[in-house]
Amino acid sequence: MSYTAKVLEQVTKKNPNEQEFHQAATEVLTTLQPFIDAHPEYEKAGVLERLVEPERQIIFRVPWVDDAGKVHVNRGFRVEYNSAIGPYKGGLRFHPSVSLSIIKFLGFEQIFKNSLTGLSMGGGKGGSDFDPKGKSDNEVMRFCQSFMTELYRHIGADTDVPAGDIGVGAREIGFMFGQYKRIRNEHVAVLTGRGLSYGGSLVRKEATGYGLVYIAEECLNSKKDTLKDKTVVVSGSGNVSIYAAEKVIQLGGKVVAMSDSGGYVYDKNGIDLSIVKQIKEVERARISEYANRVKTAVYKEGCANIWEIKCDVALPCATQNELDEAAAKKLIANKVKLVGEGANMPTTLEATKLFLDNKVLFLPGKAANAGGVATSGLEMAQSSQRLFWSFEDVDKQLKGIMVNIFKTIDKCSKDNGLNDNFVAGANIAGFKKVAEAMMSQGAV
Ligand code: NDP
Repeated sequence: MSYTAKVLEQVTKKNPNEQEFHQAATEVLTTLQPFIDAHPEYEKAGVLERLVEPERQIIFRVPWVDDAGKVHVNRGFRVEYNSAIGPYKGGLRFHPSVSLSIIKFLGFEQIFKNSLTGLSMGGGKGGSDFDPKGKSDNEVMRFCQSFMTELYRHIGADTDVPAGDIGVGAREIGFMFGQYKRIRNEHVAVLTGRGLSYGGSLVRKEATGYGLVYIAEECLNSKKDTLKDKTVVVSGSGNVSIYAAEKVIQLGGKVVAMSDSGGYVYDKNGIDLSIVKQIKEVERARISEYANRVKTAVYKEGCANIWEIKCDVALPCATQNELDEAAAKKLIANKVKLVGEGANMPTTLEATKLFLDNKVLFLPGKAANAGGVATSGLEMAQSSQRLFWSFEDVDKQLKGIMVNIFKTIDKCSKDNGLNDNFVAGANIAGFKKVAEAMMSQGAV
């Protein structure tokens, strides 16, 4: 049995019922196998056994009081996965589905993603099964304060720097930062995605979506093509989706559909993003509302069917496993050219294989959505220097990082005889830097 297969077997045995984590580990280790087999030094140093085991996992109680005075209890998580190349870095997710398995899959992916950015950031992830939807601002504030009252002792500007993710936007980051500052009496870059008036960076809000489109454009350019006049479907209508759609439109593409967990809207004339922003960012309402306001749009229940719409480019930007084998078959039959993962692991293993087998340009999340964490790295750099860079400066650096990530994964896929397999390219390139750092630091 190969070294990677042995480690994968241990992963499933030692972590039963962690399906999402098994899926992420399988994707990475399977594609790494030929590379690892050619380098026996990794097995000798136990690199994979160490890589799949988080350095630290923290699970804690988060009690909070609702507006009616009733006490609720949620579960908080922070998985500090790997600090070989820098302080742990990765977002916090607040969603009822959050479990240790989901946080571990996200933290594991984050190790390789952060490595690909070229910046010094280790991997971590956290969150809670708390649902901010339908809660008042005061309830969200009390929850965030309680969450940070435990988390503060585990994080720090040079130790572990969380950020946002699903359900954690500017409001939640603000409440958590305020509580951290109050407890520690330190105004430091312990969270990224902060507001612009207290240490945040321009472009952070747009970074993941813009970065996704920059790398998609670079990939198309490498095939002498562009996004101009392409029909694009973007799933979700949260932070990543909105700014991915914005950049697609700026580059001359047409976004015809967006969704939320309830369903999707299709607008053959192209989605009017100012209306989506008003519904989602201002009113925090449902995407179905778009069809009430735009005559040319139709709303359909069930978000998964969004992949039945014919498009040249598909950008899944909502959540894990939202694009399965049946959806991939539809997209391939409709001649999709490129699929770029804005979300983390939105494509199932079976669907990914179909895209690779059918020569669809497939950009995996750990490369394609790295723009968010890269810009968080730029936010940390500005905070350390007490400087504030212009929008143009940060955007230029973000674009440079995304172009560089594409060049890295493209070269790595070619160097390993796997032309255009960017899944393998990203996994191998991300792994090499982390493994080298781990081996230099001894068996720790
Ligand atoms: P948001 O909370 O801003 O938006 C999430 C969107 O996805 C919403 O439209 C939401 O709909 C939808 N969604 C959530 N859960 C489900 C579900 N189970 N089924 C269908 N749709 C769902 O999150 P982000 O935009 O920040 O994150 C989206 C994805 O991108 C996640 O996978 C995240 O990990 C990843 N990501 C985010 C980064 C960032 O900088 N924000 C960085 C890198 C990756 P509804 O409102 O109905 O729940």
